[in-house]
Amino acid sequence: MSENIVILGSTGSIGTQALEVIRTYNASAEGKRRPLRVTGLAANASVEQTEQQIREFLPERAAMYSEEAAADLRARVKDLNVRISAGIEGLEELAAMPEADTVLTAVVGMIGIKPTIAAIKAGKNIALSNKETLVAAGELILPLVKEHGVRLLPVDSEHSAIFQCLNGERAERVAEILLTASGGPFRGRKREELKEVTKEDALKHPNWSMGAKITIDSSTLVNKGLEVIEAMHLFGVTPEQIRVVVQPKSIIHSMVRFVDGSVMAQMGQPDMKLPIAYAFTTPDRMALPSEPLDFAALQQISFEAPDTETFRALPLAYEAAKTLGTLPAVFNAANEEAVAAFLKDEIRFLDITERIEEAMARHRVVQQPSLEDIFEAEEEAREFVRLKGKGR
Ligand code: MG
Repeated sequence: MSENIVILGSTGSIGTQALEVIRTYNASAEGKRRPLRVTGLAANASVEQTEQQIREFLPERAAMYSEEAAADLRARVKDLNVRISAGIEGLEELAAMPEADTVLTAVVGMIGIKPTIAAIKAGKNIALSNKETLVAAGELILPLVKEHGVRLLPVDSEHSAIFQCLNGERAERVAEILLTASGGPFRGRKREELKEVTKEDALKHPNWSMGAKITIDSSTLVNKGLEVIEAMHLFGVTPEQIRVVVQPKSIIHSMVRFVDGSVMAQMGQPDMKLPIAYAFTTPDRMALPSEPLDFAALQQISFEAPDTETFRALPLAYEAAKTLGTLPAVFNAANEEAVAAFLKDEIRFLDITERIEEAMARHRVVQQPSLEDIFEAEEEAREFVRLKGKGR
């Protein structure tokens, strides 16, 4: 059970839902006796929203990634006893603050890596929502987690599902992880039909309401690819032991098959508050005001294999997972840059995956990379995608 929580990325989709979970918990009888405390809040640049959050949750510290926003925030909350810091150092400081026991890393992108490392070194448990940390730097993070004896608590719905299915089980009895995917808004379409799709089309996710970056990543299946790499690190399995299963309604959040043939599945409404709450309360659970699953109304749960011809990002992610070294960082960074360009209408939908493939093909992999190697590979991939620009 977490008690004192730092939220990195408090104004984003996961951050605001985490605060909602904390509000719900603190309003319950248990929460009134022993509330969850927010000891630190960090956001990118949304000053007004961060100010509101500070006034409601009264953390000891807060940080803004933008220096300008930090100065603005400092002026706005000078009547309160809260220390405001700025930049990546500000995030790292918050991540390591002595008052906290758990750090929720809900910032988007590679920017999450350094604060996560700072938190682990300071002995904090990590409620991990930032995918890039494990994808790009998993080979560095896992040994650190072991060395400092902290826990990685997955916040992603799929990884939380697997984590829940593994409760009380022995890791060596796992035969296969069945990672479920909704298939995104373009499921069933072929490459030809995806040439002209717009960002508005890609931003319409059938089940989940999420931030823009992850919604685009779901439409390309890059998100599932990132989750494969993450699952490999989190659960100590090989890429061959992870199978992606498309389950369009997102009711089953993932499954584990054991050596005796038994399959455990975790199900629930597609609502991120559940995995967030479980990360905070594990191994316990808290009451959440969600609609119970109605199986009679649901009638069926269907499955299909992913279309890896159309959604090539998935096989590319497997390639990165098998190769490791700096390749997963390249997969991720090329994607981040390409998605940013797509959201600015600079490149087309299919170009996203193409850029990733090209960046990976031209990269010379460094095995057992240092953090510097990873950031270098990342920068190289970004630059390649930027220079390629609108291209074709
Ligand atoms: Mg997910």
